[in-house]
Parts: sequence; structure tokens; C-alpha cells
Amino acid sequence: MYWGLSLVRNQEGKQKVSTGISPSGPIHLGNLREILTGEIIYKSLLLSGKDASFIYLCDDIDPLRKVYPFLPETYSAHVGKPLRDIPAPEGNQSYSEYFLAPFLKSIESLDVKPEIIRTGQLYAEGKFGDIIKTIIERRMEVRDILQEISGRELEENWFPYNPKCSRCGRINSAVAYDYSDGYVYYRCSCGNEGKSNIYRDEGKLPWRLEWPAKWKILSVTIEPFGKDHGTQGGSYDTGKAISEKIFDYPAPLPQMFERILLKGKGAMHSSTGVNIPATEILDFAPPEIVRYMMARVPPSRHIEFDPEAGFLNLMDEFERLLKMNSENRLDEDQKTLLSISSAGKSMDNMPDYRHLTTLVQIYMNNEQIRNVLERSGKRYPENILQARINQARYWVERYAPESSRFHVLDEKSPVTLDEKGKKVICNLLENIRSLGEWKADAIHEAARNAIQESGIPPSEGFVAIYRSMIGKEKGPRIGFFFEGMERDKVERRLSFLCGV
Ligand SMILES: [Zn+2]
Repeated sequence: MYWGLSLVRNQEGKQKVSTGISPSGPIHLGNLREILTGEIIYKSLLLSGKDASFIYLCDDIDPLRKVYPFLPETYSAHVGKPLRDIPAPEGNQSYSEYFLAPFLKSIESLDVKPEIIRTGQLYAEGKFGDIIKTIIERRMEVRDILQEISGRELEENWFPYNPKCSRCGRINSAVAYDYSDGYVYYRCSCGNEGKSNIYRDEGKLPWRLEWPAKWKILSVTIEPFGKDHGTQGGSYDTGKAISEKIFDYPAPLPQMFERILLKGKGAMHSSTGVNIPATEILDFAPPEIVRYMMARVPPSRHIEFDPEAGFLNLMDEFERLLKMNSENRLDEDQKTLLSISSAGKSMDNMPDYRHLTTLVQIYMNNEQIRNVLERSGKRYPENILQARINQARYWVERYAPESSRFHVLDEKSPVTLDEKGKKVICNLLENIRSLGEWKADAIHEAARNAIQESGIPPSEGFVAIYRSMIGKEKGPRIGFFFEGMERDKVERRLSFLCGV
């Protein structure tokens, strides 16, 4: 059974999947696994005929932890303030919205459409108020649970609420010392003394209490999370106990997920430069491939992403799945995988990505590429075709390995060929001239025959052709390659080399 369906098969009643992020910097591919794992679980619930919804929490009231390498030194003045209160590195919006906006746009392109909830807004609307009151009133029990399960001792003056200082604006430097009638009283290291209204965004719960509080407030029933939260005595374990014992709410069904590693570079971090921004993935990867990459393996397995040659192989693998689907050869698991990857959209008529990576190296202009495809009887919806061409172009420029790159030589650039090589070229010219239609299969056949007639091994024959056309020993499949070029141009090039 597909892992998503298997995970949710015993869930009963209304289901709500929740994931989220603390928008403290550029959001990278690794974060996509979290939201896409949520999306896959959500779609699995729907495929199982269950009543389900999906929410995404932006923890914009979390404090800025430090001056990250991508920030100017002036941000040291903002460390400790909630992300939503800090100005963005550029423009007029807040720090959190600045990093969220492009990410939210990316997930929309991926057909992931959860209800987006800003945690700061929940506090501002007083949604956390009653639960904060409960936690404060029962703080001795809460404290015991946290200490017992995490094995960590809490300080003598521990208080389950972090007030936001009304003077310096920091949410991690004031110490709460009393509670009365909806207000937490605090003293801040900046010298300020004040009180926070627990029904406003004047403070927040510590992470280990905020997480289960969200479960209860938002009625979460399933939540995927990274393995850092899932260690023994970690925040899921304490959250579960708090939720059950203090809030009388069953902890959501957990699903831990492994990390995404960048091939040859290891784990991705925003701070080390070993990452691909989530927004950049869609510059070269069609949405269904990003979804497929996450859906094809269970969350317990790490994903090693190779944006270079491995990416094309992933594309090929997905295209094989589509082909099998068109031949009615998919088993149930593969059908589920395809349905989740394609977000329920028809994938019957999609341009071949690998072929496009060849065409973009022949033509600078998208219009020409469309004409070439139409000439060989292939028509696609304009928006899909344009997006695919641009993605293939981006991939070639940015990620294609040397073996996938080429440049078509000018008609009259000289190439040294031995006698046999020259014979292949002359035979090829002759065979091509007698071709009826300019079609990949026929061209490929013409090339094979030309090599055979020359009496040299196929591998050497193809080397002669590639050397003549692109000055390399290998290249894209001859049939598609030539079909993608103007027939006249190919003939003129071969004539020049053959000397006729
Ligand atoms: Zn202060």
C-alpha cells in the first residue's frame, strides 16, 4: 500500500494536517519536504475518502535568533525581536513577509494550497489566551511533565510564557514573575518593567508548549515534522504529554521525515550556502517533478537530490511512469503516486524535457522551438510549453553537466576527419538527401545505415558525426537532434565537410 494511504488508514472523523515554518531566512528545498509531506498526507486522506483539511503555520512571532550571514551587521539591533516586527532587508514589508512571500508563491505553483495561518495573528486575535491561562494556572504540573520527559531541569524561576518587552521589543529577554487576571508581569534586561496581555500578541509560549497549544486550538490530527523534533524526550514527546494531560486533547498522528541532501554536498542549510532556494527549483523543475521527488519515497528515507545529471534521470523516470499509465500498466501504488505527483492534473500531453534540453541549445528563441515541435506534429498548451522551454534553458545554463552541453558548429567551421569518418559523413549526406519526411526515426535510421555502409563500428561512426556537428565525441540522440535543426542547414554542413 502507498505509504500515505497506509499512514492514514485508521484515522477516523474530521482530519486536519498541519505543517509550518519559522520564516527566518531564505526558504530552501529542504523546507519543501516538510510542506510536501503534509500535502501528500492531505491528498492521501482525500483519496481515502476522508474529510480532511490542510493548514500551514508561519511562525512569524518567533524571535530573530542571530545575525545570519546573509544579513547586514545592523540587524544585531533586531536580535530577539519577533520576525514580524523587524523591517525586511529591502522594501517596506516585514522581515517575515519578505521571506515568506516568494515561498508562498512557489508552493502555489506546486499546486499546494493549504490554509496559510500566521501564528502572530493567532496571538493578536487572542486565540491562545485561554490555553495560556490554563498553562500558567497549572504551571507546576506542566513543569513536572517537561522535566520528567525531556530529562532537562528547568530553572527555579521558570515561567511558561515569554513576554514581549514594551520598550525594547524583544520577546526573549524579559523575565515573567507573576500572573494576575489575564496579565503576565515582567522585568526586562533593558531595565523596563511591564505587563503583557495574554489575549494579545504581547508575548508567546515557549516552543515546547506552543506546539501542543496549536494542536488543541486548531484541532490538528496529523503532523509531519523533522527528526530533530522526534528524538526521545524531544518536543513531540513533551508536546504529546502536555496535550493529553493538560489540554485533554489527543496528540496528532506523527510522521517524521528525513532530510534532503544535496548530492556530493550533504545536508542543506540556509547559512552554509549548501542549498537551493525553494524558489529556484521551479526555475528548472516542472511542478510535478518536485512533487514526484517527494512522493516517490516514504518520508523515513532521506532524499539525495542531484540537480545535474540525476535530475534528468528523475525526469526520465517520471516520463516512464506516464508512458506505463498510457498503456494501462500501473499497479495501485503507482497510480496513487502518479495522482499525487500530478496533483490530479492530466499529464497526457507534456513536452519531453530531455528533448527540450537539446532544442534550447540549438535555438535562442522559444518561437523557433515551438515551430520545430509543430513541424513534427507535436502541439502543447502554450503556457505549459513556454514554461517548460524556459525551465530546460535554465537547467542547461545552470546545472547541465559538461556531457549534456553542446554548441552547434558553424556551417563552414573546419573539422579534421580521417578517411573513414569522412566516408560516414558523405554517406550520411546521401542518405539524408533521399529521405522523405524529416522525422527523428527516419534520420536515425539514415545515420545507422551510413555508418554501416562505411564499414566501421557504430560507436566510431557516431563519434565522426558528433565531431562534425558539435565538435564533441558524444551528443544528443542524432534523430531528435537533426530533426530539431533546419534540414537545409544539416545538408549544407554535411556537404561542406564532404567537399561536394
Ligand atoms: Zn526590554
